[in-house]
Amino acid sequence: ENFKELGVSKNFLKGLSDMNIVKPTEIQSRVIPILLGGDTDLVGQAQTGTGKTAAFGLPMLHRINTHHKVVQGLILCPTRELGQQIAKQLFKFTKFSEKIFTEAVYGGAPIDKQIAALRRPTHIVVATPGRLVDLVKRKAIDLSHVSTVVLDEADEMLSMGFKKELDQILSFTSMAQNKWLFSATMPQGIKQIVNKHLKSNAHRVE
Ligand code: AMP
Repeated sequence: ENFKELGVSKNFLKGLSDMNIVKPTEIQSRVIPILLGGDTDLVGQAQTGTGKTAAFGLPMLHRINTHHKVVQGLILCPTRELGQQIAKQLFKFTKFSEKIFTEAVYGGAPIDKQIAALRRPTHIVVATPGRLVDLVKRKAIDLSHVSTVVLDEADEMLSMGFKKELDQILSFTSMAQNKWLFSATMPQGIKQIVNKHLKSNAHRVE
């Protein structure tokens, strides 16, 4: 099985093979066809290092209208390091496709630079939850055109005390047609978020 058979557009296949990503991992084989099949919510139980980034990143990239220079994809993750890694992977996937602009924003770094960066055309934002809420309050980011929201390592974000921010962000983006939550574990707090913000017919992959 390969990425072409999973439905990945040829725009991204060269970027993948350039990264030596040729044979899909289990989570990629299971999730990519679902997420390319149409707008949907999804709950995925997956550990780190299993290839999750491509599993949600490729379907998100497929949905970006590059001519529409507004934020269409939002990825929430627990740490700066993970956010930077995700942004870097998305950039490499698009090495041979039309340019898709991704910006990573996170706490613990000067906000002014991030505000300036977000004034450039940006299709996808990768963010830690606290910093994103701050940027929304300062009107530095417009989430009204977001059609796909990903929560990556949702249990980690909860452990770090971001429950309130996640609830706020998911309320700001309640109109998004796609909400994809990934978590290594499914504690009560995650189940609450799923029940409150995702459709009851969300796909479940574990
Ligand atoms: P992730 O779990 O998404 O953080 O990915 C972990 C690492 O595995 C990253 O360095 C990816 O580039 C790499 N990777 C992801 N999918 C594949 C694949 N299908 N084959 C080989 N490496 C992969």
